[in-house]
Amino acid sequence: MLDRYDQRLRQLESLLRVSRAITAQLDLTSVLNLVIEAAVDLLAGNSGLIALRDDDGVTRIYAASGLAHETWPAFDDLLATPLDDQQALVRRLREAGADVGLPLRHVSAAPLVFRGATVGVIYVFRAALNVEFTAEEHQLLTAFADQAAIAVSNARLFQSVLREKQHLDALIENSADGVMILDSRWRITTFNRAMEQLTGWSREEAIGRPCAEVLAIHTPQGDNLCLTDCPLQRRPFEPNPVAEGWITTRDGRRLYIQSRYAAQRSPQGAFLGAIANVRDVTEQKIEAEMQNTFISVISHELRTPVSIIKGYAETLARQDAAWDEATLREGLMIIIEEADRLALQIDTLLEASRLQTDSMRLDVSDWPVRPLVERVVERFAPQAGDRFTFQIDIPDDFPPVHADYERTRTVLENLISNAIKYSPNGGLVRIAARVSGDFAIISVSDQGIGIPLEEQKKLFRRFYRVDNRLRRETQGAGLGLFLSRAIVEAQGGRIWVDSRPGRGSRFSFTVPLATPMLSDQSTPVETDAAASVDHSEPAAEMIPRAEPPLLEDHEH
Ligand code: ADP
Repeated sequence: MLDRYDQRLRQLESLLRVSRAITAQLDLTSVLNLVIEAAVDLLAGNSGLIALRDDDGVTRIYAASGLAHETWPAFDDLLATPLDDQQALVRRLREAGADVGLPLRHVSAAPLVFRGATVGVIYVFRAALNVEFTAEEHQLLTAFADQAAIAVSNARLFQSVLREKQHLDALIENSADGVMILDSRWRITTFNRAMEQLTGWSREEAIGRPCAEVLAIHTPQGDNLCLTDCPLQRRPFEPNPVAEGWITTRDGRRLYIQSRYAAQRSPQGAFLGAIANVRDVTEQKIEAEMQNTFISVISHELRTPVSIIKGYAETLARQDAAWDEATLREGLMIIIEEADRLALQIDTLLEASRLQTDSMRLDVSDWPVRPLVERVVERFAPQAGDRFTFQIDIPDDFPPVHADYERTRTVLENLISNAIKYSPNGGLVRIAARVSGDFAIISVSDQGIGIPLEEQKKLFRRFYRVDNRLRRETQGAGLGLFLSRAIVEAQGGRIWVDSRPGRGSRFSFTVPLATPMLSDQSTPVETDAAASVDHSEPAAEMIPRAEPPLLEDHEH
């Protein structure tokens, strides 16, 4: 009696131990092997099987103890036998044993039940003749099967989650969009192939780093948006925030990207992680900018000639005035000239907005500089009124240049128009030309508000306007200098500015001479303020020390 009690206690202890071990396992095969070994051991059997019901409703053997894999088909009839018909079970077992040449005589079977559904069956077999399983032993196996069912279900669940994850990993990896996953501290945990191609970072380098370092999205002003305005930290929290801006890839490319985030948060709003979907939208951005350019240009560059044409046409059309032949002709000539200019402006702007300075079609010829300057100055005379004095410092024998006349005229007009616009108190506007190497340097100086050094480099960018009081008071789209640069560079020259706030500005540009000079009379030196564009042209184009940096210095 005591013996039986002892044995029962040991069985229960081992049941507990085994149950703990198997519920701690998540790999299905390991769990099943552990379960069947433990069950055979627990019931002092010789062999056993564990069968599971698959999604298709068929019950299949998944693991066995003491039975070779090739013997498993012999047990099909046993698997099909109801568990409550013990006699039929024993009969099927003995038939199977005879089939495979093993003395199998007694069987104890228990269903694996999880949440009310039978997910499988455990069978334990004995070979000896007179050792039938007792009712208590059947009960023990049932108790064990209850525990085993939990472990088996967990392992199956885990297996399906794992399969899902592999599926997802493959999807992420092969996605055409860049995908990265962030943990709760904004560190990268997943970085797909498209992301590697987009950023130039390898996943080995990227994983573990803060996303703001790897995908540093910058605003056009140069701020790292990920540090100053992280879309995942903006309040109130948006479910799918988007960030857009420029990145510099590891291999030095500049791309405009759009990153969409899906954030995970705790019920209290704490950030748990996010998945980011990143796209290169540089092309679309350029496209949109081109459209913007065009719209801004219509209002800015084209308005002037249109209003001149309209003004003259209206004047000439007045019924109460009888214009003499000469006035009429002069007015019509101006209308024709302005209409031609308008057409040319449109061409220039279209080309500039396509950013194809290389392929800008130029109509190059040789022509003298001074008459052009005089013509442009004359055109501005009405606008300048008596607040401005124009001074042209170009010798009569100045050598001709080899350039596009109309486009060079546009550059000069932009510079003189700016000199007037940004000199609220009027003053002297000086247009000078001198020879430097194979180029003529033409400059327009004013006594206006001047430009801070840090702004000077940016003036030639599209849409750039210095943020000051005059910006609000003067009309402009920040395109004049951008277009001027496009024209000057297409002609093989360069454009730059020397300026000091409050002391005026001098804009200079180079134009190729018709007959390159063999020697240069001036002494070319670097100027510290020549900060316009990156250029590796020879120092010949720099301003010689002999010439003062600004108009005012020259005057006083
Ligand atoms: P816009 O005059 O239409 O703004 P521009 O491209 O011609 O565009 O000039 C860009 C910016 O450069 C201007 O907005 C102005 O701030 C600055 N700028 C240009 N010329 C001068 C000048 N002569 N003096 C002071 N600032 C100037």
